[in-house]
Amino acid sequence: MAIETLSSQQSAAWKDRVLPPVEKVAEGVWALPVPIPNNPLVYTYCYAIADGTGVVLIDPGWDGKDQYLALNSALNDLGFTVADIHGIAITHYHRDHIGLVPALLAKNPEAWVAMHGEDLRAIKRFYTNAVDLGTGIDPNLNIARAYGVPEGRWAEVESLQAGSSKGGSKKGGSQSDSMDLYRQAMSQLPENIHVLDDGTELPLDEGRVTAMWTPGHTYGHSAFVRDEDKLFFSGDHVLPTITPNIGLDSGAITHSLGDYLRSLEKIGQLDEDVAVLPAHGFRFTGLHDRKVELVEHHHERLGEIRARMEATDDHSVYSIAAGLHWSRGFESLHNFNLFAALAETAAHMHYLGIDIGVGSLVGKD
Ligand SMILES: [Zn+2]
Repeated sequence: MAIETLSSQQSAAWKDRVLPPVEKVAEGVWALPVPIPNNPLVYTYCYAIADGTGVVLIDPGWDGKDQYLALNSALNDLGFTVADIHGIAITHYHRDHIGLVPALLAKNPEAWVAMHGEDLRAIKRFYTNAVDLGTGIDPNLNIARAYGVPEGRWAEVESLQAGSSKGGSKKGGSQSDSMDLYRQAMSQLPENIHVLDDGTELPLDEGRVTAMWTPGHTYGHSAFVRDEDKLFFSGDHVLPTITPNIGLDSGAITHSLGDYLRSLEKIGQLDEDVAVLPAHGFRFTGLHDRKVELVEHHHERLGEIRARMEATDDHSVYSIAAGLHWSRGFESLHNFNLFAALAETAAHMHYLGIDIGVGSLVGKD
């Protein structure tokens, strides 16, 4: 079944990188685009699911005043207010998905929050800047050095490392201030979280939505399934036109690609004609074909890395990454994009059994 959009408005907006309209996507389900500032993804889809007299949200989006207003006005259009939110389910802990949760809870402390235990742990590691005893990961590990990044570029990579409080240079100032705000917000997440595992049902008043654990993009990434009308809320696990970054979750970098490929196999259990409701891009059908494309993409990447290993004696992550094909060229990658490219390369190298220089990271594969 070929990959086909389910919304010409959403695919047109994605193509032009503008905000799509609020859309009803199924009975009692709406897609509400929430903007991401200065980001080529432009928006995250927050999904609102009718739940008796109120709604439940999946991924409210990036934190910020504009984002809050956008979500609030979208809810108003549907006849709801923030006070009608019964609960919030999170696919994974990245800022463009979870960021707004504390602001929403401040206005509505009764709402429940549900996420996978592994991503909850990642969030805690992030804001406490502590060694995670479960994984043995030291957030102060100099990943830049471990990856063989030239010293002049260390600041670009270090300031973005989860758990880092560095990056206070003039250039990185506003970026790290913004990260501090986010870290502060995350420290206000409630103690009482509804911890999800594979198959856990969301505590809805009406209807049945279950979590599917899909580790890879983050270790605790969860997708959600509504069986009755074949809806698959895929988060960032499967997106229609881009490949989710694998390896950014520094807490799980040494097993992320293996996890991801297994999580792709897992979605093969779903019916071929499910409606895929992703966090970015547009909704579509053709899940199985998309799965095959994603698997092929990673196998091609692995092939490229093997070839690069043959071609050079410098087997550091940085050196291998520099020899791979990047859509706008390796030279164009800076700061976050450089960090993401190195993480992706490291995850693929580790998958091939190549030492990536981070001995203190404990992997499961
Ligand atoms: Zn995302």
